[in-house]
Order: sequence, then structure tokens, then C-alpha cells
Amino acid sequence: THFGYETIAESLKESKVGAVFSSVASSYDTMNDFMSLGIHRLWKDHFVRSINPGSASPGSPEGWNILDIAGGTGDIAFRMLDHATNINGDHRTRVTISDINADMLREGKKRSLDTPYANSDRLSFLQANAEKLDMVESNSIDLYTVAFGIRNFTDKAAALREAYRVLKPGGVFACLEFSKVNNPVFNEVYQRWSFGAIPLIGHLVAGDRDSYQYLVESIDRFPSQEEWKGMIQEAGFMTPGKGYEDLTFGIAAIHKGVKP
Ligand code: SAM
Repeated sequence: THFGYETIAESLKESKVGAVFSSVASSYDTMNDFMSLGIHRLWKDHFVRSINPGSASPGSPEGWNILDIAGGTGDIAFRMLDHATNINGDHRTRVTISDINADMLREGKKRSLDTPYANSDRLSFLQANAEKLDMVESNSIDLYTVAFGIRNFTDKAAALREAYRVLKPGGVFACLEFSKVNNPVFNEVYQRWSFGAIPLIGHLVAGDRDSYQYLVESIDRFPSQEEWKGMIQEAGFMTPGKGYEDLTFGIAAIHKGVKP
């Protein structure tokens, strides 16, 4: 335990993860802004720019077939469609937002009504467990994205195997996730912010200390940058260059893998 708080993650059964996201679905964006001081928006922008959806390869001329896993409220999906359309002039790239949680998907559908993609064939929704994507054909996806989702999965190796299976050869796995801070002094401040302030803010803003305590603990338990890269490689992916990019001292990191 850190700073005297009880470890809720360990006592929370996996089935409760669903309940955590149901209870935070409507306050999710506000809480993200509070918790990250708005920085999660910059990370998401950077993540999408680094992927450059809708650029010449790999999917053109039909556009890319993108699967946004744990897509929740559509934050990444809408950015990718905007990027493809506005930066690459690509009007064919399409995204399936997939999430295990119906409440998060409902929130995403609601938000999509404010985008140009509502009710278009460029956007669809799929309720599914990322560890078992039976309904998604093998070798059918150009880009698999998962942002701030995979650390919640019970069996991360199974999710990686499914990512590998559904991607086309040459297809890209791209993951944005909380990671390990690489500066000891900053880490001290960060740990106090996470374990001290975030559950309290969760309590005050959302009336829900336990869910936010769970989120903090799930970040703490997630593998380091190098360990996570190793797991991606074990699933069969090539990891170009260093294999990952640290964001804001490693608070978050982007990992990429290519299916050979
Ligand atoms: N990608 C969005 C973003 O960046 O704002 C939402 C991330 S949200 C923190 C995590 C999401 O993971 C939740 O919507 C939750 O329902 C989903 N999730 C948790 N376990 C899952 C699983 N096994 N399969 C698919 N989605 C899952």
C-alpha cells in the first residue's frame, strides 16, 4: 500500500471492473481533466498524430479499417477520423469503437452526435471483450488502437494475441497507456498526487472514491515500458526502434508493434 491507503484493486473482483466504468461513464471526461490537469488531451493528440491515420499506407486507397479497443467515449476514434479527413484528405478511413461496457459505448454514441461521423459508415460500435474478439475476422484490420484501456484487462496476453490475429500482415498495434515515471524526484511528487489527491478528487467531484482508487492502483500495477514491450513482442509483433515513446517523464507511454 502507498501512504496508508487500502489496496482496493486487490479486493475488487474482476467482474467489478465493469461496475467501475459504469459508475464513472458520465463523469469520465471531467475526471480525466482533473486527474491529468488536462494533459491527457495533449497525449491523445500526440498519439493520433504519431499514427497518422489515413496516410498513404497501409490501407489506401480504400482508407484504413481501424479498430479502437476500449474506445469508451470515442476520444481516440473521433480524433483519428478528424486526422484522416482534415490532414490526409481521406474520407474513407473508418473506425469501429469497441468496448466491453455498454454505458461507455452509450456515452460514445451520444458524443458522436456532435461529430460529422454520426450515422455514417465511417463509424460503428461494437460491444466486445478485447480478450475474445470472435466477431472480428482474422487479418482484417489495418490499425488496432487501445488508449488507457489495456491495463484494465484481466488477461493482457490474450488481448495481445487477439490484436495480432485480427490485424492484417503489416498492420499496426498502437497502445497509449500509463507507464512508469523515469525521474525519481518527479516520481515522488507523482506518487503523492496519484495515491493522495486522485481518490480524494474522485470523492469530491464524482462522489466515488473507490473507483478512482481502483484506477490509481491499476496504473501502479501495470508493467514497465520494457516489460510491456516484451509482452508485445511475445505476442509476435515487431517493435520498431526503441519500441515505445515516453510522454511527460513516462507518466504515459506509446507502444507500437507491427504484425510481420
Ligand atoms: N480509450 C478511451 C480514452 O482514452 O478516453 C477510454 C478509456 S477508459 C479509461 C477504459 C475503457 O476500457 C473503459 O471504457 C472500459 O469499459 C474498457 N474495458 C475494460 N476492460 C475491457 C475489456 N476486457 N475489453 C474491452 N474493453 C474493456
